[in-house]
Amino acid sequence: MPTSIAQFWDDAIVPSLVEYIKIPAKSPHFDKAWASNGHIDAAVELAANWCRKHAVAGMKLEVVRLPGRTPVLFLEIPSNSASEKNVLMYGHLDKQPEMVGWRDGTGPWTPVLADGKLYGRGGADDGYAVFACLAAIKALQEEKRPHGPISILIECCEESGSGDLPAYFEVLAKRIQNPELVIGLDSGCGNYDQLWSTTSLRGLVNGVLTVEVLTEGVHSGDASGVVSSSFRIARMLLERIDAADTGIVKHSAFHAQIPPERAAQAKRAAEVLGEEIWRKFPFTPGGQPMQADLADLVLNRTWRPFLAVTGADGLPAPANAGNVLRPATRLVLSLRLPPTVKAESAAKQLKAILETDPPYGARVTFESGHAGSGWHAPQSKEWLSKALDAASMAHFGKPAMYMGEGGTIPFMGMLGAQYPQAQFLITGVLGPHSNAHGPNEFLHIGYAKRLTACVADVLAAHAGK
Ligand SMILES: [Zn+2]
Repeated sequence: MPTSIAQFWDDAIVPSLVEYIKIPAKSPHFDKAWASNGHIDAAVELAANWCRKHAVAGMKLEVVRLPGRTPVLFLEIPSNSASEKNVLMYGHLDKQPEMVGWRDGTGPWTPVLADGKLYGRGGADDGYAVFACLAAIKALQEEKRPHGPISILIECCEESGSGDLPAYFEVLAKRIQNPELVIGLDSGCGNYDQLWSTTSLRGLVNGVLTVEVLTEGVHSGDASGVVSSSFRIARMLLERIDAADTGIVKHSAFHAQIPPERAAQAKRAAEVLGEEIWRKFPFTPGGQPMQADLADLVLNRTWRPFLAVTGADGLPAPANAGNVLRPATRLVLSLRLPPTVKAESAAKQLKAILETDPPYGARVTFESGHAGSGWHAPQSKEWLSKALDAASMAHFGKPAMYMGEGGTIPFMGMLGAQYPQAQFLITGVLGPHSNAHGPNEFLHIGYAKRLTACVADVLAAHAGK
């Protein structure tokens, strides 16, 4: 790795990320008053000021603001070479909410540096991205290596489903032009030992399932056996979606054919990662994964649908629970979808399956929330595969790896549809235990440095091809 990148990370990036972590820039979905609270603006201001301070040659910076929408930090860097092939780089500055379970002395807005990791909310997901983008370009310019014309788009609505992005995309389309290469730095890595390229993302449908059986709660001794529990009805409805004993989603509309190339890559990833595939999760003692076969686990979290209940209402906390047959149960459902399943139609299907023929005449509604389609990378061109391998060998001493990710980045779906010709490097620092969205999120600084060096190499390879 060029020492300049590592040094720049230590001198200029880490101190700024420390400040960024202190800002509770929660995504609009988790901070409805984000505009008056001003935290998102503070995060954008911090990043924009940093970029101005460390501006690269010819850089133009604009904080674009459409009325009623979260801002976008937009940078344009002209080519420093003969290459006129456009590149688009992407990241975001909005954050997930706090979550509980942070270790003593740490917290979401309390940056802590320990063991080469920077703990705190948003450092890895995805605050580091804008800094890494500029660091890579700066290194190329200093080393007199080529890069093409680059747009860097940093949004502030990603953790809310990127709802503001299409509008910005329309406004900025002429300036972004037709990118031949898209580099997204909001994804994961299977380990911290090599470069990982994300080949797919899952889609997501969520919403609130409400089961109402009574207009008010009644004595459960009086009513149970006559009035069915709204919770049991919710169980029956969930059983329509997935089998409780296996977790397998039943309806074919939520499944997709797994491309053979991706199945083969999953097998290779399983060989490289071994049991770390499941051991990276904080299982309670004795906990086991859903399946024994490691390649199947990779495919489960990348190409197969699975359901999670992520929230509930209508249930009192244990200390306040009397013997009451409650009037209603509300569950937040989160159904992950294979990369190629259209989320809008899946949401309609899900609603129909849940609401049809309600047991015992209960009042059942499913209010769809967010529906975001996944993304499947186009076939990599030879120059890109070679560039990824060369970069990974140069900075990690190991070849590049390819794997799907389980999460959803709606922007990638949008971009994939917009630019079917583009090549994609979707990567990131969300490796084992980095725990984005959970407590104790950390940024692996050593990995981020090497990744930045890899990104620089890929930019140079693209410009020089
Ligand atoms: Zn993210």
